[in-house]
Amino acid sequence: MNFNQPLGGNEMPRFAGPVTMMRLPSATSAEGLDAAFVGVPMDIGASHRSGTRFGPRQIRAESAMLRPYNMATRVSPFDHMQVADLGDVAINTFNLEKSIEIIDAALFEIVAAGAVPLTMGGDHTLTLPALRAMARHHGPVGLVHVDAHADINEHMFGEKLAHGTPFRRAVEEGLLDTNRVVQIGLRGTGYADDDFDWPRQQGFRVVQAEDCWHKSLTPLMAEVREQMGEGPVYLTYDIDSLDPAYAPGTGTLEIGGLTTVQALEIIRGLRGVNLVGADLVEVSPPYDMAGTTALIAANLLYEMLCVLPKVVAGS
Ligand code: MN
Ligand code: MN
Repeated sequence: MNFNQPLGGNEMPRFAGPVTMMRLPSATSAEGLDAAFVGVPMDIGASHRSGTRFGPRQIRAESAMLRPYNMATRVSPFDHMQVADLGDVAINTFNLEKSIEIIDAALFEIVAAGAVPLTMGGDHTLTLPALRAMARHHGPVGLVHVDAHADINEHMFGEKLAHGTPFRRAVEEGLLDTNRVVQIGLRGTGYADDDFDWPRQQGFRVVQAEDCWHKSLTPLMAEVREQMGEGPVYLTYDIDSLDPAYAPGTGTLEIGGLTTVQALEIIRGLRGVNLVGADLVEVSPPYDMAGTTALIAANLLYEMLCVLPKVVAGS
């Protein structure tokens, strides 16, 4: 079977050609796809610096550097899956609630077509509609949440829906299998103990950044795989989990964060997990002066593709 391939650097210069994820063919529907990249150009849920509305476009631009074969894991995802770029979800930039409904519908359509969505954000609010879509199709899902923040606020400025609240809402709505949730990379200043203890009280495993310092996360991920078991799992990766030295182009920075090596260990450590969807959120190009944040995001999305069940089964 002939699967879509990224346009190679020997066919068209890397600085030219289509601005799709990895210069893959674009598609208008997920029918027939095994995995789909999709953008959510949204920043109206952000509480501080904005700009994530430009995230998907910049991640696609920086993804032009990516080649199809994973030299480390010896995986060739485009030999095992039909993948395309579905473009961006047409959110209503003047209305967060409506945008959430639009995102939910768009992602549900992808999942219902049998494809795994790999969503490029966009602020972290988008993970609430993503989890709604996942849970409607698969039932409550396990969650691997990599972030500097727990994102479990009761409200922000009085609003229930914002980029700091999605996982509180997800618990309330029964979207998560709460014994199969892990949060990795949490740190920084808070309001009270409860910021990180509330998730623990729900049954989440919380791995604060300090517990990740100076070490490989490969052993942690073996435990995470065990915790996740066979059931469906969603991966949400907030780029601010990384130290600002690596990823300055985001809205709410915290020092003492993860390294890009640890990010690779986390995602590669999900090989064998039943991933049904993933997102990479909070890339804000206006604060990303050298394009490194978007470049890291593009690479991490590629690594997510490399650990999807169909790739693992075929490799
Ligand atoms: Mn977040
Ligand atoms: Mn965050």
